[in-house]
Amino acid sequence: MNWKPALATMNPYKPGRSIEDVQKEFDLSEIVKLASNENPYGCAPSVRKILDNPGIQIEMYPETSSPPLRAKLAKKLGVDESNVILGNGSDDIITIICRALLNRESNTLMPTPSFPQYAHNAKIEGAEVREIPLVDGQHDLDRFLQEIDSSTAVIWICSPNNPTGDLIPSERLKKFLDAVPRTVLTVLDEAYFEYITEESYEDPIQWLSEYPNLMILRTFSKAYGLASFRIGYGIASTEIITELNKVRNPFNTSSLALLVAEHALADQAFIDECRLENEKQRKRFVQFAKKHNLHIHPSEANFVLIEVPMDATEAADKLLQQGFIVRSGNLLGTPKRVRVTIGSEEQNNGFFKAFETLLTNRG
Ligand SMILES: *Cc1c(COP(=O)(O)O)cnc(C)c1O
Repeated sequence: MNWKPALATMNPYKPGRSIEDVQKEFDLSEIVKLASNENPYGCAPSVRKILDNPGIQIEMYPETSSPPLRAKLAKKLGVDESNVILGNGSDDIITIICRALLNRESNTLMPTPSFPQYAHNAKIEGAEVREIPLVDGQHDLDRFLQEIDSSTAVIWICSPNNPTGDLIPSERLKKFLDAVPRTVLTVLDEAYFEYITEESYEDPIQWLSEYPNLMILRTFSKAYGLASFRIGYGIASTEIITELNKVRNPFNTSSLALLVAEHALADQAFIDECRLENEKQRKRFVQFAKKHNLHIHPSEANFVLIEVPMDATEAADKLLQQGFIVRSGNLLGTPKRVRVTIGSEEQNNGFFKAFETLLTNRG
């Protein structure tokens, strides 16, 4: 068959190990998965309740043009409904953006290491991928500007960045947006928006009128604790959303997922609690790293990238044997580090204990 040439060098997404899988291999009664930045507190109890009796019409196609979730999001964000697109996770929106804007004649800029789906989808469209290395965990925004040319169609910015956790200071980001040509779609992926506590952070939604080429991505998968339901959303000018909707699969979000997200959105008290507790636990990770003289990035997300005293995959394996699933930095482009989702207080207590066994065995 005539596969797209790019597929020859690509692989399907390789997920972290599942709890069941690890349980079987190591015969452990309890496994804590700290590998995919899911919410350790689950979703809001108010959301759980509606699952008992959601009252949706299963035989009907989902509402696609303007489901109530879209209107409620718009209202909450202070934008028009026509400024919001919903996706089957923000992954879906990344795919839609690439389909709509990239081809073999265009190029796209992104940080590295960062979220792999930008490069993955761009390659499928045959676009040239220009990866710009982070400097000290931060986006090298000057390099981004140097790399822009007349064929640049999309710029990806991830803040807080996965896997480092670093936040781009709002002031720097705004200066960058000032310098980007208005013909280049600039996607700001804020999958971890709800966890940001930095005081100088400015919500970029207020910048949208100033930058008609700016698009912001957010998701219900992380802080809202709804990763299994696959709802993400993008916010941008009406013109951008109109074009992207032409590419979007008409029924890309399910009725149940839309309903659940709607209830989750209404329970902001739960999100506030999760942000507070995450911040408290995040500080414990920083203290832990300091105490043991290990490098840690200043994270504004619900995960940290922390130095390990050996090869990252070896460290991840040793933690796995003790029931903690984390991501080896070798797979993320950050050798000598592991990415750890910040768990609940109890989970973290266990994690610190397990991690300390790596330190005492240090050669
Ligand atoms: C988790 C994550 C996403 C994907 O979220 P979904 O809405 O579940 O598809 C997007 N971007 C970043 C940076 C992420 O970490």
